[in-house]
Amino acid sequence: MIVVKKFGGTSLGTLDRIEAVADRIIEDIEQKGESPILVASAMSGETNRLISMAHQLAPHDRSPAYDMLLASGEQVSISLLAMALHKRGQKARPLLAFQLGIRTDALPSKASIESIQTDSLQELVQQNIVPVVAGFQGMDAFSNITTLGRGGSDTTAVALAAALGSDICEIYTDVPAVYTADPRLVPTAKPIESITFDEMMEMASLGSKVLHARSVELASKFNVKIHLRSTFEKREGTWIVSPGGNMMEKPVVTAVTHDPNTTVIKLFPTPDKPQFLANLFSALAKKGVIVDIITQSQSPEGQRLAFSVQSDDRQAALDTIQGEITEATKISLMDDMAKVSVVGVGMQNQFGVAARFFRALASQDIPIHLVTTSDIKISAVIEKPQLEKAANHLHQEFGLEG
Ligand code: ADP
Ligand code: ASP
Ligand code: MG
Repeated sequence: MIVVKKFGGTSLGTLDRIEAVADRIIEDIEQKGESPILVASAMSGETNRLISMAHQLAPHDRSPAYDMLLASGEQVSISLLAMALHKRGQKARPLLAFQLGIRTDALPSKASIESIQTDSLQELVQQNIVPVVAGFQGMDAFSNITTLGRGGSDTTAVALAAALGSDICEIYTDVPAVYTADPRLVPTAKPIESITFDEMMEMASLGSKVLHARSVELASKFNVKIHLRSTFEKREGTWIVSPGGNMMEKPVVTAVTHDPNTTVIKLFPTPDKPQFLANLFSALAKKGVIVDIITQSQSPEGQRLAFSVQSDDRQAALDTIQGEITEATKISLMDDMAKVSVVGVGMQNQFGVAARFFRALASQDIPIHLVTTSDIKISAVIEKPQLEKAANHLHQEFGLEG
């Protein structure tokens, strides 16, 4: 059986870890008769190192050179992993995205996969050669190397599983499961056995970096179950699946999620033209800036607009805004912000969840700057120094402690 297995950066962070991963892959081939297709991220810290070199040399360069630089970390890890397999008598072939025909759009540093050729992968598997695919990268229509956004190797893995018609994709990482909160921030967080695609998608897009949001979106679209589990332990982790069973039995809140890299941008007074908002947000979307919470209010002095973006997108957002406003509109920036959210399908049709959320933050004197809700989440932007307290308190308020 073909199984796509993705190994994250920490799992491949040293040569010893790469050897341990290779041992585990061989064991699964021998004991379970699996035919693995591997996807690897760069060794931990490597992509950050590459980004920091680019920032030092040319902070605003987002030409194809930037994506090519970022993608280079995966070339190292797939080569080393293939060599570790060779050393164990297992044939393996490292493959960069362009060799496999992973085609993407041309959005710099945030490209989306458009198509994948799987013929060559299947041929390799038939010859008992293990393909070791570079995650996080693709190639656009102009033959430029593109990258899929931070954490994008998860998306490569799920896209491959979907293209191969597999119904499972295994994601091996440095935590044994998806937890009720990031265990690094909330020490009482406990592992979740199974979670729906919708909940995981909300968690990922609200900042939980345990999975790349687009990977969950693809998994949901093609009904590929994700099994997220530890590289270092054998036990089962978390299954991310379609909803089933009795939703009434679900807890109101499944998890608390945070995003420490949030910037709030305020504009006042905004131009009075009805087209202004449409033009501004279209221009931001074209630049790939993901705008999160938006609020607009009218006062006698004029219209106010406030919205949050990821801190990485701060500069692109500012450059875009400058092109849409005149000197009359003042921009103010709040940089040291974070977003904290509660997510759960169980909050559909439940009354008073928002009240509990606000009361939990108020009881700790934590001011909320922006807020947004949907039927399965409540999110608030707060000041970063308050994040740890807020996340732990919400986790306790909704009874999630282990
Ligand atoms: P990888 O390199 O394997 O892709 P990542 O660092 O991208 O791993 O993601 C794993 C990390 O995600 C964990 O170390 C953990 O700190 C963080 N994380 C955030 N939210 C959660 C959560 N709800 N459950 C588990 N881990 C989480
Ligand atoms: N190496 C890339 C990053 O650090 C992709 C990934 O880890 O999934 O973002
Ligand atoms: Mg990751």
